[in-house]
Amino acid sequence: MINKGSKVLLEVKNLKAEVAGVAGVAGAEILKGVDLTVRAGEVHAIMGINGSGKSTFSKVLAGHPDYTVTGGTATFEGKDLFSLAPEQRARAGIFLAFQYPVEIPGVSNSALLRLAYNTLQTERGLEELDPLEFDDLVQEKIKVVEMDPSFLGRSVNEGFSGGEKKRNEILQMAVLEPKLAILDETDSGLDIDALRIVAKGVKSLLSSDNAVVMVTHYQRLLNYIVPDYVHVMDGGRIVRTGGKELALELEARGYDWLRAAA
Ligand code: ADP
Ligand code: MG
Repeated sequence: MINKGSKVLLEVKNLKAEVAGVAGVAGAEILKGVDLTVRAGEVHAIMGINGSGKSTFSKVLAGHPDYTVTGGTATFEGKDLFSLAPEQRARAGIFLAFQYPVEIPGVSNSALLRLAYNTLQTERGLEELDPLEFDDLVQEKIKVVEMDPSFLGRSVNEGFSGGEKKRNEILQMAVLEPKLAILDETDSGLDIDALRIVAKGVKSLLSSDNAVVMVTHYQRLLNYIVPDYVHVMDGGRIVRTGGKELALELEARGYDWLRAAA
């Protein structure tokens, strides 16, 4: 049983952000005051129609250079998140699984995983693993996501199917064991087997020390991973927060009733 609700990991208050480079242009603001508190042990789902700002929010937390924070605050384990460079956020234990994972030709999947893993080991004051030791670890992790080990020798995501890319994101998460995993529509476009595998990977990560924020369009992932909180984003704000039953209500009623109320 996971001990929930203890330590605050992420605290976001009135976060505003716009597309970088168009500061001050009317309509450039995408996030218009997002509030979110995530404690260790919790699973949060963020839902909402296309274009409501879910990916922007995820990317702003990870430090994506496309966006400029124009207001509000965010802390991660009490530290000012926005004073940290993206790689410092990753080292602090934040992981973002992209909605559209990038292909990196020429960089082997296993080399990237090992480099990232060892960087975190150093950060955590632990021993780095040599290639043989790391292989033992990654072979265990790859079983969780039911990927063929041949994917380790391939270039990162190059020529992977959509579903394989999403599984590879979960493999990265399983290897890096982040404190806060943000999964941006990792379930989109997955068949039911792949969805089950993604859910299994997320569940294998969850403990009372870490938390998961899942951005999703669909209730079906939430059948596998029951969220503690469901948030609805609309127009760059979280307009409603509820329990898991809110996702079922959205499935049944759509989003219009909330938009009208907001
Ligand atoms: P969601 O993930 O909820 O579908 P996004 O965060 O991707 O929504 O996008 C929110 C809005 O911000 C959309 O209208 C989108 O076109 C706009 N937007 C996001 N990123 C950029 C960008 N880099 N440049 C211009 N517009 C952007
Ligand atoms: Mg999105």
